[in-house]
Amino acid sequence: MRMTVLASGSKGNSTVISSATTRVLVDAGLSCKELLRRMALVGEDPSLLNAILITHEHIDHVAGLAVLARRLRIPVFFTEPTHRAWVRMVTPRTTMTYAKWLNHLQQEKEARAAQTAAVEASAAAQAEAIASISAAAAAACEGLRSDDPNPTLELPVDPDEEACDAAAPAKEKANPAALPAVEYFHAGTNFTIGDLDITPFTIPHDAADPCGFVFHSRTESIRMAIATDLGYMPPNVKAALKSIDVLLLESNHDLEMLRDGPYPWSVKQRVLSRVGHLSNDATAEFLQKDYDGGATYIVLGHLSESNNAPELARLAAEQALTSHPTLLGNRVVLAQQASPLDPICL
Ligand SMILES: [Zn+2]
Ligand SMILES: [Zn+2]
Repeated sequence: MRMTVLASGSKGNSTVISSATTRVLVDAGLSCKELLRRMALVGEDPSLLNAILITHEHIDHVAGLAVLARRLRIPVFFTEPTHRAWVRMVTPRTTMTYAKWLNHLQQEKEARAAQTAAVEASAAAQAEAIASISAAAAAACEGLRSDDPNPTLELPVDPDEEACDAAAPAKEKANPAALPAVEYFHAGTNFTIGDLDITPFTIPHDAADPCGFVFHSRTESIRMAIATDLGYMPPNVKAALKSIDVLLLESNHDLEMLRDGPYPWSVKQRVLSRVGHLSNDATAEFLQKDYDGGATYIVLGHLSESNNAPELARLAAEQALTSHPTLLGNRVVLAQQASPLDPICL
């Protein structure tokens, strides 16, 4: 069995899991073009992928999803709430921008002013306009849909992604949420793709229905797991991560670096919350207290570029492991944001 981490971090996540006969991609958080480039770099043939599995709908996990799935013509596995959240996220919304609202109001105001020369009438219109502007601002803040009959969606067009999508049917290209096939799974319920038994487990994170995965190759008796994007280690995750041979585990931030770092207070609170990300300390605590020591490789992932240093993450994990002499066989590997890791083969 093989795990190839193509990218890991808040700018994009994607990992190939392969058994003798089955290959799946977990998350597609880089552009299609970049995912294909990285697969080529590490000798993973994209045409051999059987499916794409999505952990949750955050952009660092789905950025290249639609284009990649359409290009490879393979099914995408989601939980139903994650699929719905993703569709909402990528479907163009007819939201009127605040600037457009103001412009619209201005035009209305001018039309009214032209109709009446009376000073009183003009003053009344102005008062009404001010009230409308407040309402427009409130509507913009709440993301309300407008009834604008000609909405313009100002999404940046990436020519590389358009080129990747070139072979997709025109009907699909017109719909950003179109996928060749969608399959639903439920957290806590095993499902099978080829010779891979897959156990999705719920993780505590601020998304619709976020999951981690355990992969078990029946033919090889090897188990690999992915657990990133979790605010803390709840009992169900600790239970899921037993008897794992290769474990990709989040080690997102150093608490002091996050505290003193550049993020606004609200973002720091989100990262630190029970539905945010695992700190180096939290990961070390899990490794020291709850981990069974069974993995040949522990891959530390989703490291923050602003609030962590790879050596701090490694040190925290290795110190936790060396407190158990029996765990010295566990090799710690650091997943990267900018480049793929060499495949880890067992
Ligand atoms: Zn993430
Ligand atoms: Zn996330």
